[in-house]
Amino acid sequence: MGTLPALRSRVESESSSLIIARDSGGVGRRVPGKVVKVRRAERLGWAERLYLPTIFVGLWVTARVFFRNLWGYMIGRPSTFVVLYPEQRLDYADAFRGHPVLVQLENGQPKCVACGLCEFACPTDCITILPAETTDAIERVPAVFDIDMSRCMFCGLCEEACPEEAIVMSRDVELATYERGAMLWHMKDLLRTEEQVARRLDLIRRDYVR
Ligand code: SF4
Ligand code: SF4
Repeated sequence: MGTLPALRSRVESESSSLIIARDSGGVGRRVPGKVVKVRRAERLGWAERLYLPTIFVGLWVTARVFFRNLWGYMIGRPSTFVVLYPEQRLDYADAFRGHPVLVQLENGQPKCVACGLCEFACPTDCITILPAETTDAIERVPAVFDIDMSRCMFCGLCEEACPEEAIVMSRDVELATYERGAMLWHMKDLLRTEEQVARRLDLIRRDYVR
């Protein structure tokens, strides 16, 4: 009971706020967004039990919002926030997790030392690593590093287990394909340069400091 006033005041303060959405260029836009309080009776009256009045109210609300939005677009002042994906994209939060990728060294080799920790940590067993020796200072590299993206659930446990910052979560989620076999990603499909995953690496390092 003691938390109710605090909760109520939070909802009331949110009700007047606008959501700030950022596009892929990082430009923020104020878009309509608010919490609407709904008052519901605990017991249904006879009108609610008939259902028909409620259905007509629902249709009226839908039609009203539809025509209001249509009018807004016709006069160039839309009242709703619409992202025309994939032409338009929003910038996700720093902690957003897309599919995992492998970090590539400047010499083109993966940063991975084939220790197998990510393979062990993966709850869906979708990582397959075959280690190989190398004469480089790194001594051990993956000869095979496959991820079955049809089973990956973007949980990020592989990234957390990796001691080398060699596997990180990207910001990409588009995996659609017409063939199930194409969901098996090999090392060449997974490699990304440090610049390409710089934002994720920054976030991981900030987490270490915390
Ligand atoms: S994100 Fe999760 S499910 Fe996907 S490869 Fe990593 S540990 Fe496995
Ligand atoms: S935990 Fe990191 S270094 Fe070890 S095999 Fe996985 S990606 Fe490579």
